[in-house]
Amino acid sequence: MAKVLIIGAGGVSGVVVHKCAQLPEVFSEIVLASRTEAKCKAIAAQIKEHYGASIETAEVDADSVPELVALISKVKPVLVINVALPYQDLSIMDACLECGVHYLDTANYEPLDTAKFEYRWQWAYQDKFKAAGLMALLGSGFDPGATNIFTAYLAKHYFDEIHALDIIDVNGGDHGYPFATNFNPEINIREVSAECRHWENGQFITTPAMSLKQSFTCPDNVGTYNIYRMYHEELESLTKHFPTLKRAQFWMSFGDSYLKHLEVLVNVGMTGIEPVEFKGQQIVPIQFLKELLPDPSSLGPRTHGLTCIGCVVQGLKDGKEKTVYLYNIKDHQDCYKEVVSQAISYTTGVPAMIGAKLMLEGKWMQAGVWNMEQLDPDPFMKDMNQYGLPWTVIENPDFNLL
Ligand code: NDP
Repeated sequence: MAKVLIIGAGGVSGVVVHKCAQLPEVFSEIVLASRTEAKCKAIAAQIKEHYGASIETAEVDADSVPELVALISKVKPVLVINVALPYQDLSIMDACLECGVHYLDTANYEPLDTAKFEYRWQWAYQDKFKAAGLMALLGSGFDPGATNIFTAYLAKHYFDEIHALDIIDVNGGDHGYPFATNFNPEINIREVSAECRHWENGQFITTPAMSLKQSFTCPDNVGTYNIYRMYHEELESLTKHFPTLKRAQFWMSFGDSYLKHLEVLVNVGMTGIEPVEFKGQQIVPIQFLKELLPDPSSLGPRTHGLTCIGCVVQGLKDGKEKTVYLYNIKDHQDCYKEVVSQAISYTTGVPAMIGAKLMLEGKWMQAGVWNMEQLDPDPFMKDMNQYGLPWTVIENPDFNLL
């Protein structure tokens, strides 16, 4: 039984709050705080309607450590679940240290003025969290998150040594808009327009964004999609924690309409992160663009189709080469029926709840800053089956990846 403080009230947060509210025996009290309290209240109203439970709400600017410290000191949670934006990771970690509270997030820190996400800023908190006897769990979403756990699970149960990893993220859902992003538009566009990096023979190789694609047929009739190689943050921690990996790549599916719009937006400068002066006002193009695009948390009722996200690992078992594919398939409309959300927020929010649960139950709790693959994957995999993200393993699948 523990009290948690959830920060951020967007698409992912809505799912985390629902999933925590479904488990009052673990999350006995929930407080939801964000920049715009009205959004917290809207989620709280859903929780009241669905489960008859009351959750408290508050307003906080999570860029401000003093504001966070004041809130955490008042709420006195055991754990802060950060589902605001990557820009707030360090301020929330600082406030957790000051208040003696555990920490969890779903995306690694990214400075607002540099579109470059790396773990080094958060890994630098290792000694401070250890000394304080506190735990920080990094990247407990789907990718990063479940994909790190899938890799660790395969390495533990199917291989003696792993050599190649391909993470494949297919969203076969259709929301009917010519262009919309399934999670925060600013973070999404910064991520997909960045140069690609993949791991090859002990180093990261840089190639232009979206310059390599292939066709991928998902299992269980999900369909065939174009997947594009891109950089994703879990490649950094997985190649560090599995040093036998000779190659690691991340692939994501994109529809032609999304790519056409993105190309034009990049070319005309609408994805820029530097402020421009417009009629006496400083405007950051990508932040203005976010205001024009559909709010990801509003896509739930109109998104139909399936997601299929998983890991293909190659390596050695008993001296023989083998390949294993581990994946989850999720139906957007099933998510909407359960927690009023589309599947991208769902597949992020459920692992955040499971990571928090395993910390609070003591199964994962240990002082320090941890990536998911450093912890025992077994209880997490068990909970994925139980709490809405069932998974399947195929040994020696009949596809050949680039
Ligand atoms: P949204 O934009 O929908 O929600 C973000 C929320 O954070 C909003 O409620 C926003 O407030 C709030 N927020 C932003 N800045 C502040 C601040 N300074 N102080 C307090 N609150 C703030 O994003 P998503 O829900 O789509 O994404 C949430 C997180 O999940 C992101 O970090 C994203 O990168 C991560 N993510 C991780 C995935 C994974 O698989 N690991 C996949 C998808 C997302 P306001 O409403 O006022 O704007």
